[in-house]
Amino acid sequence: MYKVAVLTLFPDMFPGILNHSITGRAKSNGLWDLKVYDIRQFAKDTHKTADDVVYGGGAGMLMKPDLVADTIKLAKQDMPEAKVVYLTPTGTPLNQEKAIEFANFEGGVILLCGHYEGIDQRVIDLYVDYEVSIGDYVLTGGEVAVFPLVDSILRNVPGVLGNSATLHEESFDNDLLEYPHYTRPAVFEGLEVPKVLRSGHHGKIAEWRLERAIEKTKKVRPDLYQKYLEKQNKEK
Ligand code: SAM
Repeated sequence: MYKVAVLTLFPDMFPGILNHSITGRAKSNGLWDLKVYDIRQFAKDTHKTADDVVYGGGAGMLMKPDLVADTIKLAKQDMPEAKVVYLTPTGTPLNQEKAIEFANFEGGVILLCGHYEGIDQRVIDLYVDYEVSIGDYVLTGGEVAVFPLVDSILRNVPGVLGNSATLHEESFDNDLLEYPHYTRPAVFEGLEVPKVLRSGHHGKIAEWRLERAIEKTKKVRPDLYQKYLEKQNKEK
C-alpha cells in the first residue's frame, strides 16, 4: 500500500477530489492510504496562532517553525521511511519523471503544505528531503498543489490504473506529447476521423500517431521536442 500524509492548516480540504474516480476507487481497494495531520494542533496559545512575523521586515507572515517541525515529527513516527516533500514555488518543477520517482518511494511521502509567505528555512534545512513546485505561478497554499502531485504519483502506483497498458503511449512517455484521439461517429459536425485510423492497418496507425505526436510536441513544447531529438540521436 502506498502511503501519503498531508500536513496542513486546513485538514478539512482532504481527501476532497482524491476520494473520487480512479484515485477514490484505488483508496477503497486498499492500494493507497491518506493520513491528514493538522499543523495547528501544536499551537500553544488560546487563539491557536500558527503564523509569526518575518525577520528582516516586509509584508506577510511565516508559519511558526515549532508547529511545523512537531507535525513532521509526528508524521515521521507513523511513517519513518517516508520522504518529506515541501510544496513550494521555489522547488524543482513537477514532471512525469518526478511522479514516477516518488511512486517508487517504498515508505511513501509526507507532504508539507505552506501558507502565508511559506515556512522558516531552518525547517526546510532540518526536515525536508524534496522541494517541489507544480508550476511557475504562486498559489495561496500548498493544499491546492497536493492534488495534482498525489494524482500524478498514484497513476504510477501498480494497480491504481487497473490496466497498466494505459500508462504507455501517454504524454511525456518518450519525451513526446500524445497524438490526437477520435471516437464514433466517423463524421462529427462535418469533420471526419482520419482514414488511416479506420484502416485496421496497425503499422500505418502507429506511424501516423508518431508523426502527429512529433508535430504537436514540436509546435507546443519545443523544449521537450529538443529532448526527444537528443535521445533519438544518442540511440543512433
Ligand atoms: N512567498 C512564497 C514565494 O514567493 O515563493 C509564496 C508563498 S505561497 C503564497 C504560500 C504557499 O503556497 C507556499 O508555502 C507553498 O506551500 C504553496 N505554493 C504556492 N505556489 C506553489 C507552487 N507553484 N507549487 C507548489 N506549492 C505552491
